[in-house]
Amino acid sequence: QAKSAGRNTARFFDPVMQAAAATHAAMAQEIKAGIERNEFVLHYQVQIDARGHCTGAEALVRWNHRVRGLVSPEQFIPLAEETGTILPLGYWVLDSACQQLAAWSRNPATAHWTLAVNVSAAQLAQSGFVDSVKKALLHSQAPATQLKLELTESMLANDMESIITKMMDIKALGVNFSLDDFGTGYSSLSYLKRLPLSQLKIDKSFVRDVLTDPSDAVIARTVVALGHSLGLTVIAEGVETPEQRDALAAMQCDAFQGYFFGRPVPPEALMADRAIQLPSP
Ligand code: C2E
Ligand code: MG
Ligand code: MG
Ligand code: MG
Repeated sequence: QAKSAGRNTARFFDPVMQAAAATHAAMAQEIKAGIERNEFVLHYQVQIDARGHCTGAEALVRWNHRVRGLVSPEQFIPLAEETGTILPLGYWVLDSACQQLAAWSRNPATAHWTLAVNVSAAQLAQSGFVDSVKKALLHSQAPATQLKLELTESMLANDMESIITKMMDIKALGVNFSLDDFGTGYSSLSYLKRLPLSQLKIDKSFVRDVLTDPSDAVIARTVVALGHSLGLTVIAEGVETPEQRDALAAMQCDAFQGYFFGRPVPPEALMADRAIQLPSP
């Protein structure tokens, strides 16, 4: 316990703050206070289809900290997961993302866009998760069929039956599921077949060297074939160059996301980048 708190301290705090020896509990408290102060923001990264058209975006949370500036999720999501604050934070993300999706759905230029939202294991394990998805959809009036929840393989390892039941209940609302960071976990292929997924997302670690490392190219090609054989679409994350995009497109990858197409940005910047007129307020 002390050891893991120490590790998180190192991950989250700069050396000066570390010297102050903040505790695990204090950091959890700070995340809660951050939610109350409205310090968390969502940035959006576009997703692009094979024809080069934008089909929507992924929401990625950042912490606009009053002292530390914009903090990356890598620095607080693991901590939030370990302390349970991922539950209120996760709900804030879901609710805010649904409000953004609802706004897009009211603009003819973006009405067809989908929005992918990352979900943590602890959120999915929660008994009220299905209800929280319903509540966020109802509250925002966002189109359920354009909401996509991103899960990772590792969170599907335990309690498979109850996870499948929850996924089915959410799928029944029209919501889709994408399996994030695919290839980095240990998915059993028989389980994969039973999950109500719509999409596999090739992890960026395979995309990075897809042109130079033949084994990464084989993995990417295999994930595309596997996804298609299960009736799923396949998206690649971490696409940074046109050459990577072309190589993945030649493998029949359906969609792409990465710095080549756009960094995660605030929603207004996303609209400006794509030259989309916002309705006047
Ligand atoms: P992820 O869901 O796999 O998101 C992809 C990460 O890769 C994002 O990092 C994104 O900014 C980054 N990325 C996008 N394009 C490129 C590229 O071309 N090259 C490279 N090198 N990286 C690229 P980010 O925003 O720092 O998020 C990191 C992770 O934090 C996410 O990985 C996700 O696991 C987690 N996360 C982010 N937002 C949320 C959230 O709202 N809830 C939960 N539970 N987790 C979140
Ligand atoms: Mg993701
Ligand atoms: Mg990912
Ligand atoms: Mg990732």
